[in-house]
Amino acid sequence: MTSAVTTRQDGFVDEDDFRIRVRAFLEEHARRNRRGEESEGAMGSADQSLLERAHVYQAALFDAGLAGLTWPKEYGGQGLAGRYQTIFNEEATDFHTPSFIYTIGFGMCIPTVLAHGSEDLKQRYVRPGARGDEVWCQLFSEPAAGSDVASLRSTAVRDGDEWVLNGQKVWTSGAHYCDYGIVLARTNPDVPKHKGLSMFIVDMRAPGVTIRPLRQMNGAANFNEVFFDGVRLRADHILGEPGEGWRVALTTLMNERVAIGAGQSTEKTTPLTPIAMHLETARSRGLTSDPLVRQDLADLLIRYWVLDMVGLRIRGAVAAGRVPGPEGSVAKLIGALLAKRSAEVACRVAGVSATAWSETDEKVPAATQMVLSAPGIGIAGGTNEVMRNILGERVLGLPKEPQVDRDIPFRDLLSS
Ligand SMILES: Cc1cc2nc3c(=O)[nH]c(=O)nc-3n(C[C@H](O)[C@H](O)[C@H](O)COP(=O)(O)OP(=O)(O)OC[C@H]3O[C@@H](n4cnc5c(N)ncnc54)[C@H](O)[C@@H]3O)c2cc1C
Repeated sequence: MTSAVTTRQDGFVDEDDFRIRVRAFLEEHARRNRRGEESEGAMGSADQSLLERAHVYQAALFDAGLAGLTWPKEYGGQGLAGRYQTIFNEEATDFHTPSFIYTIGFGMCIPTVLAHGSEDLKQRYVRPGARGDEVWCQLFSEPAAGSDVASLRSTAVRDGDEWVLNGQKVWTSGAHYCDYGIVLARTNPDVPKHKGLSMFIVDMRAPGVTIRPLRQMNGAANFNEVFFDGVRLRADHILGEPGEGWRVALTTLMNERVAIGAGQSTEKTTPLTPIAMHLETARSRGLTSDPLVRQDLADLLIRYWVLDMVGLRIRGAVAAGRVPGPEGSVAKLIGALLAKRSAEVACRVAGVSATAWSETDEKVPAATQMVLSAPGIGIAGGTNEVMRNILGERVLGLPKEPQVDRDIPFRDLLSS
């Protein structure tokens, strides 16, 4: 059993000691990666066995004082600076852990509760979240509101001490195994679209919640349609004030882009990075002297380094207590383009077997998964086009996109 992190007399946690403890924990509770292995649940639906193993792992992490590293101590976190999370991520790249199901809760939902929740909500939800007792999802996108999520049509209407939620969400990752979600709904249609939204915590097992899985082209069924039919939300389960939902959602989206783009990147390159996987496939097919393959691998490596640099900058901003700005969107864009490029290289080195393989070949299905999964990375958390708009407006200072519906009450818009 690993003991909790020790603190030096000057009040700081010793970084070397911390790294040793993280590694000792992982050696005891996780297993070392095998080549080409995906995170469990990343590609397929999480089954009951994965959920149970994830819970056991996360509870052990919590008991060892290694969960919620940067979250405040009074809510069950460790109150550590962002660089400790980086150390943890660096050590964890060598290990296979079942914690994929917590990605959205840890990366987006709980940080939003911490930033905008009342004291009671923080006391109620952060600790069980950190311990993995409760799993979270994010309910923003709707059939007619993805990139322009502020156009959403789900409504929440106040009724005494409750709000009544009606509407439909779509592409909700993990909804089928989640306990709670953060849901964005329209609470005032008489004001322009961004001003009439509110964010709530919803119990995913409440009466009136229906969850239907959607199958993706990579074979996974990790997405869902979620229907709300007269779901009762407690009035004190709002994040921020009524009408402040857009501001709250921006916190979630910013965290999401940082998590997708730079959250996992570390300075440490392991033999399991996609480049090493491509290199090994190239070796096995006698392609390491092929100038085009060499050029592709070098090009990929440079792009990874660029992403690492942007990631460093973001982690530096977080460590200094700043909320990352458009660099989160830039990292998300670079990460998505890199995934697409890496999938192309996977096809080049694997050749025709990237699309036609035998069941005994361990490597090629991984290449195929990369090809089938890369497009989704360019859509989730904001599409590449939307990221480029943010980059153009907020980094390059180009004129803003025309938004003809920005100042018109939502009720008067043609689509409403
Ligand atoms: C793997 C994955 C996981 C996801 N998980 C979740 C989740 O857990 N919760 C959740 O709420 N949502 C989730 N989503 C949904 C995701 O946020 C939306 O798919 C995304 O915001 C795009 O919305 P859309 O699909 O409606 O496309 P649309 O907004 O309809 O866009 C269609 C096309 O138009 C382009 N476009 C739209 N607006 C502009 C513009 N202003 N300028 C230039 N081009 C534009 C887009 O780039 C795209 O190519 C997930 C999606 C994926 C792929």
